[in-house]
Amino acid sequence: MTPPRLILATDLDGTFLGGSEQQRQALYRSLAADPETVLIFVTGRDLEFVRALVSQPGMPRPHYVIGDVGTTVVDGRAFEPITPLQDEIHALWGDAGDRVLRLLDGEPGLRLQPGSFPRRVSYYYDPAALRAQTVTTIEAAGFDCLLSDDTFLDVLPRGVSKGPTLRRLIDALGLPEQAVMVAGDTMNDLSLFRAGFKGVAVGNAEPRLLEAVRDFPHVYASPQPGAAGIADALRHFGLERSRP
Ligand SMILES: [Mg+2]
Repeated sequence: MTPPRLILATDLDGTFLGGSEQQRQALYRSLAADPETVLIFVTGRDLEFVRALVSQPGMPRPHYVIGDVGTTVVDGRAFEPITPLQDEIHALWGDAGDRVLRLLDGEPGLRLQPGSFPRRVSYYYDPAALRAQTVTTIEAAGFDCLLSDDTFLDVLPRGVSKGPTLRRLIDALGLPEQAVMVAGDTMNDLSLFRAGFKGVAVGNAEPRLLEAVRDFPHVYASPQPGAAGIADALRHFGLERSRP
């Protein structure tokens, strides 16, 4: 097998799913027609969401899915776990869900997200009501706390998020690092940019993320939104498909 020319590891909401309908369709068509691309979805969403998404007409099928903010990692065909990566994340978490719920019961500014997730606990938070002490409490109990988009608070196994899981997947698969481009729009994508790969912060990115990646030489801030920002960055990095 020839090595892929491009490994696109992209966030979904606001990034791969962002931009106008026309911009999205143009990107999806070019990816679907490109046999030299490995597509990886890297999302805070669960697999149920991704399954429904990829069943929509025109949506390219990913080769891999990193879901649940980096705590789930599966192939893009049968959605089977990639072992031993996901097992290792599971062992780190150690069925901590109930312990986290008890720990944060009654904390101001938190509202539990619907659904139950195997290796994380996720809340909506109110930035005006959340206490700094709540974050300290989560970290002192041995977890990571990730705040994103002034909306989402994720309690994660320590050291696990989108970027570290992508890094481990790329290494495990032996994929060429220089072909990787990551894409994102909110603070839960910061770990993707910290993983050292080329990356694009799309035009509609959260200001806090743009500020955080401003001095990263490997990150391009595109003026274009969502899918158009990804296409713009592929040109910027010379990763677009050459015309036959
Ligand atoms: Mg997003």
